[in-house]
Amino acid sequence: MYRFSDVVYNAGSQTADIGPGLIWDEVYAALEPHGVNVVGGRVSGVGVAGLTLGGGYSWKTNQYGMAIDTVTAFELVKPNGHVETVTKDSDPSLFFGLKVRLVIRKSSEALEDQFI
Ligand SMILES: Cc1cc2nc3c(=O)[nH]c(=O)nc-3n(C[C@H](O)[C@H](O)[C@H](O)COP(=O)(O)OP(=O)(O)OC[C@H]3O[C@@H](n4cnc5c(N)ncnc54)[C@H](O)[C@@H]3O)c2cc1C
Repeated sequence: MYRFSDVVYNAGSQTADIGPGLIWDEVYAALEPHGVNVVGGRVSGVGVAGLTLGGGYSWKTNQYGMAIDTVTAFELVKPNGHVETVTKDSDPSLFFGLKVRLVIRKSSEALEDQFI
């Protein structure tokens, strides 16, 4: 995954596109010139993808939640090979499933029944 190493800060939306091949040290270093930071790992050497998909406790979690709570979009490679950007608006069920790492059902009604 090391080629997925971009960090692009979007000042307008105050978001950052972060490559999953990075470790958090690299992310913090890339964002520092912009004077911003993100909710990421607490210890040197931990990877972006694993920490985020596992939830991600940060020094900033008490204020801003876990790393996964701050994700606004996932770039997902689907089983058929298609690459898709998944957001809350583009596919709410899949976005929710990626956030909580569940195998989700197709119907959002079924999903609601399951968790109420
Ligand atoms: C020294 C140390 C300090 C830590 N500190 C913290 C901390 O402060 N907060 C915290 O919450 N956790 C912490 N952890 C736990 C850490 O979040 C997990 O170990 C996490 O899984 C590490 O992710 P990784 O990407 O570095 O590891 P990897 O072993 O590369 O990945 C972990 C898992 O994520 C999957 N994965 C990796 N990349 C992708 C991808 N692109 N798409 C889909 N799946 C992927 C892998 O298949 C694997 O199952 C720490 C761990 C260590 C060893």
